[in-house]
Parts: sequence; C-alpha cells; structure tokens
Amino acid sequence: MLQLIKNASQTQGNQAIVADNQTYTYQHLLEASHGFASILLEQTTDLAEARVAFMVSPGFDYLRVQWGIWRAGGVAVPLCITYPLPSLQYVIDDTDAQIIVAGAEYAELLAPLVTQKGLRFIALTDIKDAALSPQKLPNISPDRRAMILYTSGTTNLPKGVVTTHRTIEAQVSTLVKAWEWSANDHILCVLPLHHVHGIINVISCALWSGATVEFLPSFSAEAVFGAFLQEKINVFMAVPTIYFKLIAYWESLPKDKQQVISDNLSGFRLMVSGSAALPVSVMEKWKTISGHTLLERYGMTEIGMGISNPYHGERKAGYIGKPLPGVRVRLVDEQNQVVKTGQPGEIQVKGKNVFLEYWQRPEATQKTFTEDGWFKTGDVAVVEKGYYRILGRDSIDIIKSGGYKISALEIEEVLRTHPAISDCSVVGVPNEEWGELVVAALMVKDPEIDLKALNQWLRERMPAYKVPRHYKIIDELPRNAMGKVTKNDIKKLF
Ligand code: ATP
Ligand code: MG
Repeated sequence: MLQLIKNASQTQGNQAIVADNQTYTYQHLLEASHGFASILLEQTTDLAEARVAFMVSPGFDYLRVQWGIWRAGGVAVPLCITYPLPSLQYVIDDTDAQIIVAGAEYAELLAPLVTQKGLRFIALTDIKDAALSPQKLPNISPDRRAMILYTSGTTNLPKGVVTTHRTIEAQVSTLVKAWEWSANDHILCVLPLHHVHGIINVISCALWSGATVEFLPSFSAEAVFGAFLQEKINVFMAVPTIYFKLIAYWESLPKDKQQVISDNLSGFRLMVSGSAALPVSVMEKWKTISGHTLLERYGMTEIGMGISNPYHGERKAGYIGKPLPGVRVRLVDEQNQVVKTGQPGEIQVKGKNVFLEYWQRPEATQKTFTEDGWFKTGDVAVVEKGYYRILGRDSIDIIKSGGYKISALEIEEVLRTHPAISDCSVVGVPNEEWGELVVAALMVKDPEIDLKALNQWLRERMPAYKVPRHYKIIDELPRNAMGKVTKNDIKKLF
C-alpha cells in the first residue's frame, strides 16, 4: 500500500488517529512506521515478502506495525486478537510466518508458539522507547504480495487470501471515490482488524484520504453512543449484529436519553452495513433512531467490496445495490452461462480488486476461477430493477428441497417480522425423501411461542414448500469473530 504512504506525506499535519485519549498526526505515523520498518530490517535490506504475523490491538500501534511491515517489504498477516491459541497457531503455521509481533497484552500467549518454532519475536513493549535510527527503505513494486487475510471460516476452514499492493490500492481507491471520502472525515472504528471490513473499508480508506480514525478502548453500545456524542465523528461502519446491539441498547434507554442520542446522529455523513445480510427490520429501526438510511454493500476477503448501494440515490432495503466502478460482475447458471435478467445466478467478479491467490493452495485457487478469469464467489443473487439482491451462499443458504431451490435468507427475513421472534437462522438438513428439509433455529422473545400457530402464520406469507419443517429454540445464535452465524453449527442442532 505504497500509495497510502505517499498520500500520508501530503497530509502530514492532519490528525490521523485518536486512541487512548491521545491524538497522532500523519507525520507521527510516518515516523513511527519508518522506525518499525527499521527494526524489521535490522538484519536485511528488504523483507522480500517474508510473512510478518502481528497481534496488536486496534490503535496507533496497529498502524505503525502494519505500515512498518509494508514499508520493509514484508507481507502483513494480522492476527485476530480474540482467537485462542490453536486458531493463532493455524494462521502462523499456514502462512509460514517468519516474524511475530505482539502487543504487550499478547506476548505471553504467543511466547510458547515462538519458542517452539524458533521464530523471530518482537514484543512492542521492548522497543517502545528504544532509539530508532531510521534505515533506508527498500523499493517495492506494486505487484508484490502485501497482505494475507483469512476468510471468516463461515463455511469451512479459513483460507489465506493474498493481495498485492496493487490489489489493495484498487479496493481502497474505488471505495474512496464511491463513498466520497475526504480529509474532513472522522470515522469511529469498532470492527476487528484482521478482516477486510475493518482493514480496507475503515482504516485504509480513511488514512488514504487524510481523514481521522478514532478507536474505542473496547466495544460496548454505551461506548459507541458516547463517542457519537462528540460531534466530530461523521462516518460509521459495522456489521448487522452491531446495529442490532445498538438498537437494543437504545430501546432500553429512557425517552429523554433516546432523544439526546437521536439528535446527535443527525450530523453523520455516512453509515454503512455489510459482511452479512442486513435484515430489513434493522435498517428500518436504525432509520427511525438515527434518521440515516444505512448503506448496505457486499464484499468478500477475496474481492474487497464488489457491489454497493449508491452514496447518492436510492438505498434499497434488502438489496446490496449495484457493481462498484471498476468491478465487473456477472450472474451465471450451473453451466457457467450468464443468466437472463431476473433469474438467480452465482455472482462472479473480475477486476483489479480481485485477490492474487489462496496462500499455498494452488488447487483451491485454480478451482475458484473460471477459465476466462472470473472469480466464482459462491454467492447467489438476482437482479431486480437494476439492484442486486443476495439469495445466499450456494453451499449453505440455498436449500435444495423437493426440486426447489429455496433461499434461507428470504425465509429468515419473513421470520424476523414475527412479533415473538427476535432473530433466527434457517438451514437445510439432509433428508432422504426431500433431499434437504428446511429447518429453523429461533431466538424468541416469548418462550411460550406456539409453533403450530407460527407455521400457519408462515403459510399465509410464503409457499408451503418454504415453510420450515422443524424448529429449535435457542438462547443465542452461534457466531464467528465477524458476527456471522455459523450455520454448520445450526445444522448440528437438528
Ligand atoms: P469462508 O469463506 O471462510 O466460509 P466468509 O465467506 O464468511 O468465510 P468473508 O470473506 O469474511 O468470509 O465473507 C464474505 C461473505 O460474506 C460473502 O461471500 C457473502 O456470503 C457474505 N456477505 C458479505 N456482505 C454481505 C451482504 N451485504 N449480504 C449478504 N451476505 C454478505
Ligand atoms: Mg467465503
């Protein structure tokens, strides 16, 4: 992400980061990341694509390390800070990381891994006050590998997605334009920084633009609304579960407090949702609370963002919008033929934003591209009046039952409008007669919910073949670190 660093040198006096009650300018960030690159380069003049795994909490140190790795010519491998040791080991083994960087609070956790593998270990505490003599930095071609991010592991073991500097620049520059980022923006970052949503859409877009990123010490709905009360923050991005939590908290407040929050939200320029389908009910409630129509977009670790509702123009509830400029999108059937307008098909994507490869998985990489170079997302969508609507992942949300292809997401959308249901997840389970049976796990507001009556209620709203055959009532839907429901765990319940 060399362009990011070039841009930063033109906005040196701007405030780049607010964290732990401190503010840091772009000049700070440039100096500190150069310092960190120098430490990485102690024994060499160029990291030459060495993988550097780092476990650092969101904040100034995270960026100093990330930029330092890039400037030293390494491949940045951010580790999820909430992962248990085996998941960390998976990523470190899988990437063959040669260097591990740890924030103070993670050094102890990582130590056994480091010793066991004889890796180079840099604990941030040890270097904080060391005198840094900036070294000459290597020249880096934009086609070098820059980052390996792991997919969320929603459907399978997470895969390492490799992007080059050029790929990331394409992902970022497209969004900066489409969502009209500027140096006047100030975003509150509440997303984890081992995933494309937080890394690309939040911090990289902001820092590309000379804007400010503010971090919270830890996430809570109260802390988010508290931060919103200061008037500087004008951009916010989150996953649907976070909006869900914010709404629940707001609803629990007395009327006068609700009003204070709502009044304060009117200064926002942009609020975005993505990473999983945004329930229409959440979008509507957020609109009542904040006055903002959430902008929903669709993306993946492999492509950054691909499809987005417009910044100007109608943002349609239940839709992910239209292809972003520079991103080519097509829908194809099982024979890989482009479908007729209005027919469902797999989303395939081409463009500079598309990743280079799955790390050390040549077969998986090959399988995921068509012969003519389109990336197969595995997500099924349909276009209605020019807007894409996601029907779900072919492998798990498209339930094949009695010759029908049923979108689990559509059924979930209806279930969520039932007054006794707070959230739900619909999956297909194997069945000899039907192929798969539609079943639903429910989080309910009323434990006495009458499931027979629910069935009748659904039959009035959808064809009988879509109505779930079995229900399980559960306290909490199982979710991964990105807040996505892990549907394989739901299947196991039935
Ligand atoms: P894995 O590939 O390991 O199974 P994952 O696909 O969840 O995990 P990510 O790259 O984080 O990993 O997520 C991308 C997926 O998230 C998309 O393929 C799509 O299924 C889903 N997604 C992203 N945005 C949206 C959206 N707005 N609506 C519906 N689904 C979305
Ligand atoms: Mg995926």
